[in-house]
Amino acid sequence: MIDLNNLLRKNIQNLKSYSSARNEFSGDDVILLDANENPKALSGLPIGINRYPDPLQKRVKEKLSVLKGISSDNIFLGNGSDEAIDLALRCFCNPGVDALAIFPPTYGMYKVCAAINDINVIEYPLNSTFEIDIDKFVDELKPEVKVVIICNPNNPTANVQDKSIIKKIIERFQGIVIHDEAYVDFCPEQSLVNDLSKYPNLIILQTLSKAWALAGARVGIAMASKDIIDVFNKVKFPYNISYPSLMIAEEALSKSVESQSRINEIIEEKERLLKLLPDLPMVVKVYPSSTNFILVKTTDSNSLYKYLIQNGIVVRNRDMETNCKGCIRITVGLDDENNRLIDAWKKYNLSVSL
Ligand SMILES: *Cc1c(COP(=O)(O)O)cnc(C)c1O
Repeated sequence: MIDLNNLLRKNIQNLKSYSSARNEFSGDDVILLDANENPKALSGLPIGINRYPDPLQKRVKEKLSVLKGISSDNIFLGNGSDEAIDLALRCFCNPGVDALAIFPPTYGMYKVCAAINDINVIEYPLNSTFEIDIDKFVDELKPEVKVVIICNPNNPTANVQDKSIIKKIIERFQGIVIHDEAYVDFCPEQSLVNDLSKYPNLIILQTLSKAWALAGARVGIAMASKDIIDVFNKVKFPYNISYPSLMIAEEALSKSVESQSRINEIIEEKERLLKLLPDLPMVVKVYPSSTNFILVKTTDSNSLYKYLIQNGIVVRNRDMETNCKGCIRITVGLDDENNRLIDAWKKYNLSVSL
């Protein structure tokens, strides 16, 4: 059995959070003279922009609650899901003492966030087909590991992990398991949202930055037991999501039909790219993808990367990542953009032989 209080850092357990007077009143007919705001927005700006935003983001959570089929009490919203990663590390890992376990190659922010918080990172590399080596993980798990992050589907490899292996980790590990589902809207069957109530040590991360097309709004989602969500709400900056971002998130979430058809278009376009890429110069292997990006192994990703830049196309060079020698990661763009990529890439040999 997981005892959340035992897992939390002492200072977090004992924390009294910032309280705003506004929490003490609910209702519409109220005069707000408590927060030193300007009583009136400048002309032409959104009504309400002069007020501090809702610290608990109730309206957006209500929409998400319906879409995800869980209670608002199990939802935390952050300034991108990066905020939730940072909060989890800060709440559960003592700097200089505890450690984070990751499965590289994976999302770069985990390591950066750990480094900022002076938390040691222990790596359990994925095998050659980018799957978690569960036996190795269980055998070599270090006692100082307090948090495990599994990115699934994984960035940059685009593959999914076996659900039974993930569940085994959640069931066996006595600390916090973060299941980062940033790309799950492209393969919804992979989500653990329906298992949330079974696992008090599970934190699921999702985001509006990818499938929901709101990277500029910075809205990330963490879903977990109410106890964990309450801790996150206590530790976060009180007004961590701006009023414009909340308005926009609410509007986007009411367009779930349009959003789903956009997701389907991206998936179709990805299938088209998956067929075209293997025939291009330098391509060694095109990995399967459950996401909106594709990992391609080439004979020389450094020169290909530079060549594409010269042609005005930016992809991600993943050459230096674990088991990713020669790999580039390509985001699925608009049809025209993808065509330009393919056309430029086709001419690669021509350009180097000149
Ligand atoms: C893009 C991405 C995120 C999302 O970040 P936001 O801060 O929500 O924009 C989280 N995890 C992974 C693996 C990602 O690729």
